[in-house]
Amino acid sequence: MQDFFNVQDIQDEYDIVILGAGPAGLTAGMYASRDKLKVLILEKQFPGGYVAITEWVENYPGFFDGIMGADLSEKFYHHAVKFGTLVRNGNCTKIELDGDYKIVHIENRANPVKAKAVIIGFGCEPKRLDVPGESRFYGRGVSFCATCDGSFYKDRVVASVGGGDSAIEEGEYLTRFASKVYVIHRRDSFRASNLAMERAYANPKMEFITDTVVDSVNGETKVTGVTLKNVKTGEKRDLEVDGLFVFIGHTAKTELVKDLVKTDEWGFIVADESTKTSVPGIFVAGDVRTKEYKQITTAVCDGTVAAKNAEKYINETFVKA
Ligand code: NAP
Repeated sequence: MQDFFNVQDIQDEYDIVILGAGPAGLTAGMYASRDKLKVLILEKQFPGGYVAITEWVENYPGFFDGIMGADLSEKFYHHAVKFGTLVRNGNCTKIELDGDYKIVHIENRANPVKAKAVIIGFGCEPKRLDVPGESRFYGRGVSFCATCDGSFYKDRVVASVGGGDSAIEEGEYLTRFASKVYVIHRRDSFRASNLAMERAYANPKMEFITDTVVDSVNGETKVTGVTLKNVKTGEKRDLEVDGLFVFIGHTAKTELVKDLVKTDEWGFIVADESTKTSVPGIFVAGDVRTKEYKQITTAVCDGTVAAKNAEKYINETFVKA
C-alpha cells in the first residue's frame, strides 16, 4: 500500500469517486474498474476500515480457517487496485452538484474532482457511553479497540461493555491477555449471536454482569475501576478494573452529506438494497446505509450493487447523446 499517500496522481475527473476504503468501497472499486470505469477511492484514515482493526474474521466465505482482519482488508485493497482503481488518502470536505456531475472537494487540494457518480462508503465510528471519566481516561484505560489495546492488559482485569457481537467477541479476544473479563450489559438478554454467546459462557475468564450500566469511570492518572448501577434496583457499586473496553455500537459519520442526501434520525443514509440515495447518481454502500445487518459480507454486497447501479446510471445519463 506504499502509494496510498502519494496524492499527486489524483486527476481532475473520474467516472466514479468512492468515499471510504472499507469492504464496501473497495468492492465497489473492484467491480467498477473491472468494468473499465475510471475510479478514485478517497480514504481519510487507512484502507480496510473497521475490518483492518478487527483481530480475527471467521465468517467471510472461503476463509474457513479464519483470517486476520488486516490481511482480509489488504486483499480487498489489492483486488481493487489490480483492476485499476486509484486508492488514495484524502479527506472529502464537500460534495456539490453541478447538473448531473458531482463536484468532490478534497482537503489540501486546490482543484475539486468532478465525478459522474459518487458512492458513499463512510462506515461508522464507535459510540461512547458519555459518562464521567470516559473521555478523561481515553487512552489511559478506556478503549474502543481490543485489537489495538488488548495486549496492554496482560494478567489484568478488564471490562467489556455491551451485549452485541462486538462486546462478546472482542471480550473473548481480551481473555487472551487479561486474567478476567467482565461483560457489562444493560439488559439481561444479549443480542450477540448464539455461537458467540455459547463460546463466551464456556470461557472461564468471562463473567457477566447484566441489567447494569457504567455510571462513571474512576481513577487518578489511569483507570482503576468503574462505578456500576443496577438499572432495576438503582443500586450502585464499585468494581475494580484496569481497563474498560466500550462496544456499544456505532454512529454514522455523515455530517458532511446530511444536507445533501436523506438521512435517518441516527444519521444513517437512507437507501434500500438498490443503494440509491435521494440524489440520482449518489449511492451508499456498507454500514452507513440504513439496513439491519451490518456485516463484512453485506458491505461487500452493497459495494457490488452500488458499482453496478452507478455504471447503469452513468450509461443512461451521460452516454445518451
Ligand atoms: P450492536 O449489535 O448494535 O450492539 C450494541 C450493544 O450495546 C447492544 O447490546 C446495546 O444494548 C448496547 N448499548 C447501546 N448503547 C448503549 C449505552 N448507551 N449504554 C450501554 N449499552 C449500550 O453493536 P455491535 O456489537 O458493534 O455490532 C454491530 C453490528 O456488527 C451487528 O450487526 C453485529 O452483528 C455485527 N458484528 C458481527 C460480528 C461477526 O459476525 N463476527 C462481529 C462484530 C459485530 P441493547 O441490546 O439493550 O440495545
